[in-house]
Amino acid sequence: MADTILVTGGTGYIGGELIDQALAAGKTVHTTVRNLAKSEPRLRARWPAAGKRLKVFWAELESDDGWEDACEGCDGVAHVASPFPLTVPDHADELVIPARDGALRALENAYEAGAKRFVLTSSAAAIAYGHPPGKSLFTEADWTVLENPDVQPYHRSKTVAEKACRDWVSAHAPDMEFCSINPVVVVGPVASDDLSTSVALVQRLLTGKIPALPDVGVGIVDVRDVARAHLLALDAPAQTVKGGRFAVSDRFMWMSEIAEVIRERTPAYAGKVPSRRLPSFMVRLLAPFMADLKQVKTELGRHRDVSGRHATDVLGLEYIPAAEAIEATVRSLVDRGIVKF
Ligand code: NAP
Repeated sequence: MADTILVTGGTGYIGGELIDQALAAGKTVHTTVRNLAKSEPRLRARWPAAGKRLKVFWAELESDDGWEDACEGCDGVAHVASPFPLTVPDHADELVIPARDGALRALENAYEAGAKRFVLTSSAAAIAYGHPPGKSLFTEADWTVLENPDVQPYHRSKTVAEKACRDWVSAHAPDMEFCSINPVVVVGPVASDDLSTSVALVQRLLTGKIPALPDVGVGIVDVRDVARAHLLALDAPAQTVKGGRFAVSDRFMWMSEIAEVIRERTPAYAGKVPSRRLPSFMVRLLAPFMADLKQVKTELGRHRDVSGRHATDVLGLEYIPAAEAIEATVRSLVDRGIVKF
């Protein structure tokens, strides 16, 4: 049982929810941010009762500074921070290097500090991409195929980072209780105005920025379940998690189904949610000229269902239904005034 944990990336969507649940569970939480002056007051305002149970440290994925202090005294680490931009960078290394080197910095410093348990926030991006067309069901046994040049920089960054951590543990710290949590697209209640890329998808549907629905889909999981999976993995007996990979997903949904859920569950906010389909030939035609559609093109018609079953069987994680998660996203975006009506 980890009583004092480090959650890296406390300003983030998943990091914030994890801190919330860890504090509620009575843990002392260290967290890292990369702008202490701006972020520490915001985190203290979000958890005013935490007092000394919340310690905020400066650390940046691309620098060695700060990690030793952040890890000191922690018996478990959840390494959540990683770049997750809305746009595709010019070169994959812009994401791969901070993702991989930052994860290794967190891991090595955790080991030096004596933290035995290390939970890496990886992704379904490290599981389900670059495979031959026609493969639609994925489990923890699958790895994104890095040799495929069509694999997007973000997917590449998560795969490289997870592999690098696993290799480092095997070579230098085989006694370490390392595991990864591999979520699909994370939605659910939003507690900050800085939106994660995954929530921006729902925001764009609500605000009419997606005028028609391409024939693409994603796995959906609620942020509360993703945080709970991390906590369960931090506290489970060593033999249950050591070396494990836990995909977390409620279910796969086509964009048209997500739009339908918004219309049915929150009709007052669905005025700009498209019902029109964007024909796939049009996506292919326009993709060379529009960066957004370039990403969509490779996903057309692709059913990528990453099973979340193993996390239920081993960690006991029960999923909030995807439709409920989407509804909670919409309501919190409206309640926080991020999407205005
Ligand atoms: P998010 O809200 O954008 O949070 C990302 C966090 O990483 C932020 O705290 C950010 O700090 C920090 N970060 C990014 N680059 C950094 C750097 N160079 N140095 C230090 N900190 C850095 O995204 P999220 O959705 O919570 O994602 C968190 C983790 O979950 C990531 O590892 C992501 O790959 C993974 N994941 C997310 C999803 C999803 O659908 N949301 C799905 C699967 C996996 P700043 O606030 O300073 O930018």
